[in-house]
Amino acid sequence: MISTATAAPAGDRQRLAALHERERRRYVAARPRSAALATASQPHYLWGLPLHWMRDWALPHPLFVAQASGNRLHCVDGLEHVDFCLGDSGAMFGHSPPPLARALAAQAARGLTAMLPGSALAEVGAALQRVFGLPRWQLALSASDANRFVLRWARALTGRRRVLVFDGCYHGSVDDTLVDRAPDGRTRARASLLGQAQDPAEVAVVLPFNDAAAVEAALAAGDIACVLTEPALTNCGLVLPQPGFLEAVQAACRRHGTLCVLDETHTLSSGPGGYARQHGLQPDLLVVGKAVAGGVPCAVYGFGDALAQRMAATRAAAPAGHSGIGTTLAGSLLALAALRASLDEVMTDAAWAAMRDAAARLETALQDVLHRHALPWSLTRLGARMELQFCRTPPRDAQQARAAGDDPLERALHLYLLNRGLVVTPFHNMLLVPPMTTPGDVAALAAALDDFVGEALR
Ligand code: PMP
Repeated sequence: MISTATAAPAGDRQRLAALHERERRRYVAARPRSAALATASQPHYLWGLPLHWMRDWALPHPLFVAQASGNRLHCVDGLEHVDFCLGDSGAMFGHSPPPLARALAAQAARGLTAMLPGSALAEVGAALQRVFGLPRWQLALSASDANRFVLRWARALTGRRRVLVFDGCYHGSVDDTLVDRAPDGRTRARASLLGQAQDPAEVAVVLPFNDAAAVEAALAAGDIACVLTEPALTNCGLVLPQPGFLEAVQAACRRHGTLCVLDETHTLSSGPGGYARQHGLQPDLLVVGKAVAGGVPCAVYGFGDALAQRMAATRAAAPAGHSGIGTTLAGSLLALAALRASLDEVMTDAAWAAMRDAAARLETALQDVLHRHALPWSLTRLGARMELQFCRTPPRDAQQARAAGDDPLERALHLYLLNRGLVVTPFHNMLLVPPMTTPGDVAALAAALDDFVGEALR
């Protein structure tokens, strides 16, 4: 995030920089094995990492994982961490839940992929319907893929090219959604994109979240295939929908023949069935990735019977050959085994209840810290997910969320916490609370935040 330096008084900046430097030295001193692995990996990978944006963890050198289980992550130096990042949601219910680990081991001995449906297919379909409410499903390898495929379907079904997304959105590496809202309100390609051939602004419209009138006006032109949105924006901080906003989007979509697509990849944290189920929304298409199969590469998209009929007719009317939808390993035997274990045995009512209780406890404990220090910060919670933001009032849209960003403060805080065995998500202050979170874990995070504020900002 771009620093606006509003969160901490200017006089504290030097103190913050000194504290950050001290924490950098502490990190390096405690992690010689991670440092050695970083050096050994360097010649074999771009920046020594399997994925270049792993560099965005603001660490002196990467932290190498030896083992992750439940909400505990052990690094190769033998240090234990309480993990509130959980692979940025892939392990939202904890790392390697035992039922999932058992199912994967059993399936691994019986075949991983065949490009044919596995015997669990009907059972998994019924579980998806039970959990998310929609009857028909297709599988993909990642949420990025699922979103990409949904955009193709939406265009094919409506005969329209354009898609509407909201400023601050992230739906994965999906070309047409990597757009920003310029200060003059125009849609423009995200400046950071590499190798972009087409201008996504030709096919995407980006509007501020929570502006129902703008959505109505944009859809009225009759050329938008779908609105694609998370129920709450989770990738630019956490921006909750204002009461009635999503219902208004849904109604406008119906009025104008536009499909309403909800990406629940992160907002699954809201509770059983995700945000839409919890709030009685009825999207035309629903996308869930990451945690849906416990972190095994798999995503799903669901829809109703009427849309399924339109999809079948559209496919039948097109020439045979590649549709541009699907990949070889999607819906593999392994993915079905993971989905079945995850939906039936991991996302249980008991797990959800434990997450809700632990998240509520953490919220209260962190709010206490904010009050005690009279910090002009806010904490926003969406079920088992919460976000600390450096603004007094939770943001209403991406612009407000960006304005609350404070890179130096955030980086120092994250490293401080990590050095005390607490992992939070890089890029923003997001915390996920899995079912096995103990009162001790909650107390440890609250105490560390309290200490950080005391040291850095007083
Ligand atoms: N949708 C949302 C809302 C996301 O936050 C992300 C990734 N953070 C994606 C889709 C893409 O997920 P993946 O990288 O697993 O494809």
